[in-house]
Parts: sequence; C-alpha cells; structure tokens
Amino acid sequence: SNQPIKWRRVLLKVSGEALAGDHSQNIDPKITMAIAREVSAVTRLGIEVAIVVGGGNIFRGSSWAGCSGLDRSSADYIGMLATVMNAIFLQATMESIGIPTRVQTAFRMSEVAEPYIRRRAVRHLEKGRVVIFAAGTGNPFFTTDTAAALRCAEINAEVVLKATNVDGVFDDDPRRNPQARLLDTLTYQDVTSKDLSVMDMTAITLCQENNIPVVVFNLNKPGNIEKAIKGERVGTLIGA
Ligand code: UDP
Repeated sequence: SNQPIKWRRVLLKVSGEALAGDHSQNIDPKITMAIAREVSAVTRLGIEVAIVVGGGNIFRGSSWAGCSGLDRSSADYIGMLATVMNAIFLQATMESIGIPTRVQTAFRMSEVAEPYIRRRAVRHLEKGRVVIFAAGTGNPFFTTDTAAALRCAEINAEVVLKATNVDGVFDDDPRRNPQARLLDTLTYQDVTSKDLSVMDMTAITLCQENNIPVVVFNLNKPGNIEKAIKGERVGTLIGA
C-alpha cells in the first residue's frame, strides 16, 4: 500500500480471547505467529510497537469471584498472572523469528521478566525492541483494556489498537442480528452514552481524557494488524 504511515508509536492491545482463536488449547500458536510476523513487518518500517496482552483465554477474575470463597482481589491476581503466561508465549514466538522483545510486568517477577519501568520501556522502543506489558495495571478491579489506555498515555503512544475477534463496533450484536452494521467511526461520547460494549468505562474515559484514539479491529483477517499499525482504514475508529 502507498498510504502514509500515521503512527510513530502504537499500543497494540491483544485480548486473551483473540489469542485463543479456535484452538482447543488456551493459545493458538498460529495467531501468536501471525502477530509476530505482522509486528515484525511494521517495526522494520521504524514504527515502535508496545503490546498489552489480556488473559481472558485463561482466567477472568470477575467470572470466578464468589466461587468457593474466592474474593475478587485474589481472583484478579490469578487473572493478572494469566496475562503473564500469554506475554511469555508471545515473546517467545516473536524472538523465534528474530524480533527483540522485552516483557515488563506490573508487579515484580524478576526471574521471569523485567519490572515495569516507564523510561526503560521507552528506551527499548527507541532501540526498535517490542515491549510487552503484562499483569495489567497490577491492581485488582481493573482490566487489561484499562492497562492499555494507561500504558499508552504513559509512554506517549499515539493510539490504542484493540485487536479482537470481531470486525469492529456494530450498531447491534452481529452474532444475533445479521443486519447489524459496522460503524466506521464513533465518538467517545457514543461509546459511553450508548453503552456499546467496546471497552469498560474506566478504559474508554481514560482514552477520552487523554485524547487517545482507539481502533477496534479483527485480528483474524490476515494483514489487519499491519494495516491498523500503519494507520490504514480498518475496523472502527473511536475519537473525539
Ligand atoms: N486483571 C486485573 N487488573 C488489571 C488487568 C487485569 O485484575 O489491571 C485481571 C482480571 O481478573 C481480568 C484478568 O486479569 O479478568 C484478565 O484480563 P482481561 O479480562 O482484561 O483480559 P482480556 O479480556 O483482554 O482477555
């Protein structure tokens, strides 16, 4: 494509569900490899890529809390640990094809990964390394979408690219209503007032307050990650 590259530094959010694909295990290696290949293509163009991984493919705190006396905070710590597993898997895949990648965790696991240090993360990006942020925000009661918005703001990335299993944001649930239309653009206001299930409220308002655009797109269409990172039209763009 000869379209101009819009972004200099991006925050790619990969949900756990997207990593699972249709594989019977929690992670589909074809998907992690597709992510690695497409990220590799854009880093070669000089675009800096940071990634926040979710953990919903392994453990989602909110759906386990209350079960057998599991309190929400404990459940959420397990959820955050799940994101670390995904991060290490993705890092290993990226490095297997020669992309230098660092994992930084929101709470210390020094034998496994670096702790999150903002300046160090930025330095890695400047050197062309991919940085994967794991363990969400490090706090229970938050989500990895909020971690994506937060890290994006912290490292001065220009956009949150939310890779999911759907083509973008629809005016109705496309799985139930075949007439549902894909929306090209939306305002933050649309998302919060119409209660569109794009991101949780904490995440979307953090983006709004910091003027961070969000692109919601389907990771399963080959080339989409590359397109989104290059700023080509894909999925739904949310902004002011
Ligand atoms: N989590 C948390 N704090 C955070 C981020 C995540 O407690 O800042 C926990 C929470 O239990 C969540 C789980 O980690 O359900 C997995 O993250 P998330 O559900 O955001 O993953 P995704 O939906 O992207 O797969």
